[in-house]
Amino acid sequence: MKIRVLGCHGSDQLLDKSQGHHQCRTCGFLINGTVMVDAGTIGGALRLDEQRRIRHILLSHLHFDHVQGLPTLADNLVDDAADSVELIGTVQVIGGLRRYLFNDKVYPNFMALPHPKRPIFKTRTFKPGQEIEVGALRVTPIRVNHLVPTVGFLVREGASSFLYSGDTHETEQIWKIAAREPTLKAVFIEASFPDELSELARVSKHLTPTLLVRALQKIKRPDLPVYVYHVKPRFRDDIARQLARFRLPNLTVLEEGQEIVV
Ligand SMILES: [Zn+2]
Ligand SMILES: [Zn+2]
Repeated sequence: MKIRVLGCHGSDQLLDKSQGHHQCRTCGFLINGTVMVDAGTIGGALRLDEQRRIRHILLSHLHFDHVQGLPTLADNLVDDAADSVELIGTVQVIGGLRRYLFNDKVYPNFMALPHPKRPIFKTRTFKPGQEIEVGALRVTPIRVNHLVPTVGFLVREGASSFLYSGDTHETEQIWKIAAREPTLKAVFIEASFPDELSELARVSKHLTPTLLVRALQKIKRPDLPVYVYHVKPRFRDDIARQLARFRLPNLTVLEEGQEIVV
């Protein structure tokens, strides 16, 4: 599988050049050119012909930083003759998009436009724990511990899979599933705040470097590449420094534009 990082941060921000890395965008990962995992960034990072190739969008939860690419994607595809793009999430996410975003107030209802028989977005719901087929991928959504109903994903193609934690605080089930998954080749785990803001991480239900490493130990696979994402841009240096102290040889703090093959 080829994973293209369109956005991998907990907010949008242009960093100072002295900080090395440039434009931070909210979370959106393009798998094999056709499946998105989260929709925080789409049009801001893709040409129109690339946007047209997207067939499915897996949504971890309803928070704005994970869905904000959807309205402009709909706009960009409005005169497109291709099939609808499938939005895939829990009933809370799909219902929430209908009620709060594509409600003809915040934005037009692209679940029925430009034509009810061929809307920009069609929808599919899943139940956490049940594996689903998404194009050529097999995906298991797993409930995690966040402020709103949220899942992480185990995304598998053939004999390879990767884990995507979703936004989460301390949780158990997803690490157990990862530990017993024979095809697992990489894990993407969030770390939003530095250790000294652990109280903020607790109330906003995110992870810190120390909590990330504790989660990793539960997978018991020190060989696995670990990709850290959902870093809040203003804490990027602090989080990277704190993670470096653990000297994990296979750990990368993700940047926009990276491509990962698993
Ligand atoms: Zn969130
Ligand atoms: Zn988020």
